[in-house]
Amino acid sequence: MIGQCAFCGNKHLTPKTTRYLHQRGEDMLFMEHVPCIECDFCGEQYFDIQVLKKIESDHLDIAEQRRQPLRFLRVAVEEFNTAFGLS
Ligand SMILES: [Zn+2]
Repeated sequence: MIGQCAFCGNKHLTPKTTRYLHQRGEDMLFMEHVPCIECDFCGEQYFDIQVLKKIESDHLDIAEQRRQPLRFLRVAVEEFNTAFGLS
């Protein structure tokens, strides 16, 4: 579906599965084991449009309580401290 990495131009791309984070406003869904093609050099990941549409519709089903997710995670949110000294 893709012969070359759009970021770095590398031609070695490997089919894998990964964890995909999908956001709908403040709602987030971690979808596990999503098929993708990953660049062996820079790690950029490419997803089929049908796969992304499926994740989007599954997330909508969960958000509107037509189905239950596998489990819930607790997610902490923090602001990076800009006073952190980088030298
Ligand atoms: Zn690449």
